[in-house]
Amino acid sequence: MVALNRLKASEIRSAKSVMICGGGIIGLCCAYYLAREGFRVTLLERGAEGDDSCAHGSAGYISPSHVIPLASPGMVYKGLKWMLNSRSPFYIKPRLDTELMRWAWLFARSCTAAHTRRAAPVLRDLCLGGRQLFVELSDITGNAFELKTEGLLNLCRTPEGLDHEAHGLARIAQELGIEARVLNAAQTAALEPGARLAVAGSIYFPVDAHLTPRKFVPALTALLKEMGVKFLWNTSLYGWRASSGRVAAVQTTAGDLTADEFVLTGGSWSAGMMAGLGLRLPMQPGKGYSLTLEQPRFQLTKSLILTERRVAVTPMGRTLRFGGTMEISGHHNAIRPERVQQIVNAAQQFLPDFTAADFDGVKPWFGYRPVSPDGLPYIGRLNNYGNLTTACGHAMLGVTMAPISGLLVAELLAGRKPSVDLRLLNPNRYA
Ligand SMILES: Cc1cc2nc3c(=O)[nH]c(=O)nc-3n(C[C@H](O)[C@H](O)[C@H](O)COP(=O)(O)OP(=O)(O)OC[C@H]3O[C@@H](n4cnc5c(N)ncnc54)[C@H](O)[C@@H]3O)c2cc1C
Repeated sequence: MVALNRLKASEIRSAKSVMICGGGIIGLCCAYYLAREGFRVTLLERGAEGDDSCAHGSAGYISPSHVIPLASPGMVYKGLKWMLNSRSPFYIKPRLDTELMRWAWLFARSCTAAHTRRAAPVLRDLCLGGRQLFVELSDITGNAFELKTEGLLNLCRTPEGLDHEAHGLARIAQELGIEARVLNAAQTAALEPGARLAVAGSIYFPVDAHLTPRKFVPALTALLKEMGVKFLWNTSLYGWRASSGRVAAVQTTAGDLTADEFVLTGGSWSAGMMAGLGLRLPMQPGKGYSLTLEQPRFQLTKSLILTERRVAVTPMGRTLRFGGTMEISGHHNAIRPERVQQIVNAAQQFLPDFTAADFDGVKPWFGYRPVSPDGLPYIGRLNNYGNLTTACGHAMLGVTMAPISGLLVAELLAGRKPSVDLRLLNPNRYA
């Protein structure tokens, strides 16, 4: 377990005000830990309360097993191959865009074994810290968000797939102290007896957990209101007033808003939100889809990954959610049916009791993961502005890492030693 610094609300009572810019799961968690620290917190969000932030339709994994960053060896080759196929799990739509080209070049540069070796322990600490804090939040809210700590099964269709996972992800996880059990088909079936699985085996990660995101966000929002956090919904940030190395105010549709400290939590929009400050944060929106069956024909006890198809399956209360695909094609709200179909195909392949008819009429949801080129979030203070901090770029792990990101931001603003080593997460690393 990560040794998290305990924040005592009574310890430092600061009257400082903080403006959090962006009300997704990361912004909400920053608000929680900052308010607990004694800061006066306001959160601005361009959407209405209860709008669809990226976490809402996510797979809800809390996943310390995800220790390998997206930018890892082999991804350049896969990316180039998959680029030509809009049905592939990771699709980059070729286009003439200098930001995308720079991002792609930085991504390719990070796809090395050395980067995985450096990044994996940091991802582990962030994810384990996140899991630990979700357990605390579950206690505080009476488990309003259906946290389940039964682990996750990485299902593999083929013996080759299983062998690949056993020698790759499972080995790296074990080296980092994360329990990973390699199971054959019968052992896998014994762990999920209510479902017929067409698999060669699986890797079981007992430490992984899951929650129901559409219950977590309202539960945390309600808690924040009780704690005195002020919300400015339907308020868009479009600029900054800054001088002498400090931000004085954010310019918004509700007028200029001042604060002592500013925290940027705009998810995949963060880079654009910084326009005018002369700072650079390479980021691409990684679009993903999910489909939720309200009355599935059977229910699972654990979350699953359909490994060869990169699809996530999560039981959420009585419902069952299938999510996946990563599409780097900008913020375009069009739904690509061929990508949604890949999720339905994967479900039938691994869980053969499902038919295409089970998904008839199910409305696809989509969201934009904030994807940094090296697969690591940007958490820390930004150069040139002494009172501007960011927490964004969490890509596929934004739910898992949300509470620990909030805690780290609170620790930074309170002048404490951060619970996790932030050096690799420095938001100025591409400046
Ligand atoms: C299909 C799918 C499955 C996923 N599954 C998982 C999972 O199982 N586990 C996991 O850990 N992660 C998962 N993720 C990733 C996770 O959902 C994201 O990393 C996380 O939700 C990002 O949160 P965020 O708060 O940074 O961004 P967002 O939720 O995008 O929040 C940013 C907010 O900023 C607001 N904003 C933007 N511009 C402005 C502006 N100008 N003014 C004011 N407000 C603004 C937006 O409206 C938005 O509400 C998944 C993602 C997808 C798409």
